[in-house]
Amino acid sequence: MSDEQKKPPLRQFSKSTECSDDFYGVFHESSSLVVECECGRVHFGGDGDYEEGEEEDLLAKMAKDPQRYLQHGDYSPWGELFGYTFVFDCPCGLVNCLEKQIWNNKEHIMRYLLKRLKIEAARKTEQAELAGKVSDLMKGKLLTTP
Ligand SMILES: [Zn+2]
Repeated sequence: MSDEQKKPPLRQFSKSTECSDDFYGVFHESSSLVVECECGRVHFGGDGDYEEGEEEDLLAKMAKDPQRYLQHGDYSPWGELFGYTFVFDCPCGLVNCLEKQIWNNKEHIMRYLLKRLKIEAARKTEQAELAGKVSDLMKGKLLTTP
């Protein structure tokens, strides 16, 4: 059995590959010459700074499995969310799925963030007060130390 036959089947998350400009603007982390999407598809550029033989290897794999290896003219934009690495415009539609999940659960997510941020803010205030007390104690101790 070859390496290609051992690979898990490609995953499909949504029929649509669309996401909003806002989602792209917030979650686009970088663009890479070669990047593997969570679905198993490998996106690679048509021109770039490849290691020796790397592009030929990808082209050979693409010839055998054109559904899994996708060549683009440029670097592929990608992001990470909930432990998934996703490539924008990947046919798997993971970006569409993630954006929908966030948007459809926005009230829960916002309530969680608000609660969590209040707790974090209270914790920081408490730590600042403690730091102030420690500082005051240190000053007092230093003043009373012979
Ligand atoms: Zn994908």
